Amino acid sequence: MIDLSQLRLEPGAERSVEVPVAVPQLELGGVEYAGPLSPPIARLDVTRTLSGLLFRLRLQTTITGPCHRCLEPASVPVQIDAREYQADHPEPGLEAEEVCDYLQGEELDAGSWAADAIVLSMPHKILCKEDCQGLCPSCGTDLNIGSCQCPPPEPDSRWGALQQLKDDAPEG
Ligand SMILES: [Zn+2]
Ligand SMILES: [Zn+2]
Repeated sequence: MIDLSQLRLEPGAERSVEVPVAVPQLELGGVEYAGPLSPPIARLDVTRTLSGLLFRLRLQTTITGPCHRCLEPASVPVQIDAREYQADHPEPGLEAEEVCDYLQGEELDAGSWAADAIVLSMPHKILCKEDCQGLCPSCGTDLNIGSCQCPPPEPDSRWGALQQLKDDAPEG
């Protein structure tokens, strides 16, 4: 929580504060992901305009959790640059644009804002690497580490022919 009354926001004023925000556990596709143990430092800019308050929140952090394909630990860098506006006198019907949901009286809940922004910025799938081979659907072997003897789920004759050529090639 940031107490705006401490920022002395007279008209035209622009203030920047650095604030640690604890990244909460996130759930993506039923799997839990977490931020770093030590809260990353977010930068909050507050500008007092003639008609209201402009907020800008910037943050860089890393989210870690199991790879979507192979379940090994994976991490993704996350970069947030979010803006909110709170009008002094929001017009009826324009609350979505003119009311900042994270503002309660003089207090801005930067933690909740950061958490929501992180969720929005997350990729659809978190992978340990772009070309992760995942697990064999039949036996669970991590195909990044080794192959298994399971028949491919959908046999492809061209692939089989290629594999045959490879197998017949002399070693070395
Ligand atoms: Zn993986
Ligand atoms: Zn297998």
